[in-house]
Amino acid sequence: MKNIPVIMIIFGGSGDLAHRKLYPALFNLYEQGLIHDNFAVIGTARRPWSHEYLREQVIDAIHETHDQVDENSAKDFASHFYYQSHDVTNVDHYETLKKLAQDLDDRYNAQGNRLFYMAMAPRFFGTIATHINDQHLTGSGFNRIVVEKPFGRDLASAEKLNKQITASFDEDEIFRIDHYLGKEMVQNILPLRFTNPLIKNIWNKDNIKNIQVTLAERLGVEARGEYYETSGALRDMVQNHIFQIITLLAMPEPKSISSDAIHSAKQELLDSLIIPTSEQIKHEFVRAQYAGSDTTFAYKKEPKVSPDSTTETYVAGKVKFTKGPVAGVPIYFRTGKEFKEKKNRIDIVLKHMNNPYGKAHSNNITIEIDPKSKIYITINGKKITESGIRREDLTYTFSKEELAKVPDGYERLLHDVFINDSTNFTHWSELKRYWSFIDAIEDEWQKENEEGNELLQYVPYRMGPVEAKRIFESPTEHWIYE
Ligand code: NAD
Repeated sequence: MKNIPVIMIIFGGSGDLAHRKLYPALFNLYEQGLIHDNFAVIGTARRPWSHEYLREQVIDAIHETHDQVDENSAKDFASHFYYQSHDVTNVDHYETLKKLAQDLDDRYNAQGNRLFYMAMAPRFFGTIATHINDQHLTGSGFNRIVVEKPFGRDLASAEKLNKQITASFDEDEIFRIDHYLGKEMVQNILPLRFTNPLIKNIWNKDNIKNIQVTLAERLGVEARGEYYETSGALRDMVQNHIFQIITLLAMPEPKSISSDAIHSAKQELLDSLIIPTSEQIKHEFVRAQYAGSDTTFAYKKEPKVSPDSTTETYVAGKVKFTKGPVAGVPIYFRTGKEFKEKKNRIDIVLKHMNNPYGKAHSNNITIEIDPKSKIYITINGKKITESGIRREDLTYTFSKEELAKVPDGYERLLHDVFINDSTNFTHWSELKRYWSFIDAIEDEWQKENEEGNELLQYVPYRMGPVEAKRIFESPTEHWIYE
């Protein structure tokens, strides 16, 4: 791998994301030689840490995520880290940061390249972007910025943030990260669709009855009540992860696998996204909150959650496009907290066809993203000792050894940022379409709240509210994953 010279500045260097994901991912890239001699990382946060203390934290983070660690390598890697106590709202602190970045650039011969990473609460993103511009923090080489989710909380705020960021960065220098796009089975969707005639030829509205996307979490909001109250399941999961997965499932075939070709195919699809009407939202979307009879499990009793909260911890709904191979096919989704188990999966449900044997099971293609990485296709065959048809699964799985080699999503995506590949990042024009859809639903729900409509409730650790079945277009449709 080519050694990429760069000074990386992480805003939120003492945070959970930096510790659990970014430091281990950077270490793996360092071990592979992508970043090696000519790089330094400046971790910033408000706490008065020293360089030494940050380096200890980085080494701890590596130990927590790796079974075996080469101590010398970890120490060498950590020696590239510098800590800058920094309040993102203080102008003077940016001057100090700029000076440190320039000194390190000279020392590590980083060629004026800068990579900024916003690993902080989203309310600070705009402030940081404005200061990067006003205090001229960008370097004389390449400049890139990684922006964590959520990018805005509606279209208007996303537009404002985008304006603040584009004051210093061009669109192709902005990497809006969605770690689901770094997951093995999400990255497998396009190869699966376009390299197999068996699959490609049936991936259309004539053969597919519906598509179902489930992102189920076992955990509740835990200590994140304050943030979650400003978000809810729709903004937290649908606006980004679910829409990205749906886009990969429904987009037309790209002309090539270049980033431009893939984004242009995505855009073609998203231009045909149907924004639901008020009436459709009432019938085709279901929101709910977890609330067991044992009140300890109720969302409204969680720390920093309002007892009158109208924030949904579950949402199910439908997406449709007017163009692309599955134009008009309902794409159902659901996501929520306190499900029976953690499970991220996609089910492609094929239409039934008449056959001389009579009753046969439906063919489904299931892509399990988490916790297992696997694909299986349900097919029909004959029963061995009696007449009739039995159902079998054709399964595509990984060996333990292969699974051990699968890089974490953050490692993959950081690698892409270093090599300037934006294939698996969200473009502004795509994000705008996602927000338009989300805003339509949020506006409708806001009206319902003002009318005093009560949110549905669901029992924790099951499959969400039974009312979610009302989103199906026909009585023959149901969730494949129950
Ligand atoms: P966190 O609360 O653990 O960390 C926030 C960081 O910001 C800390 O370093 C804190 O010291 C710093 N900070 C707060 N106020 C500051 C100020 N005024 N000036 C300077 N520094 C300040 O948050 P996190 O969980 O690491 O999340 C960071 C971002 O990453 C968020 O956008 C989140 O949505 C996203 N994200 C996190 C995860 C995860 O697993 N933690 C996963 C996906 C996305």
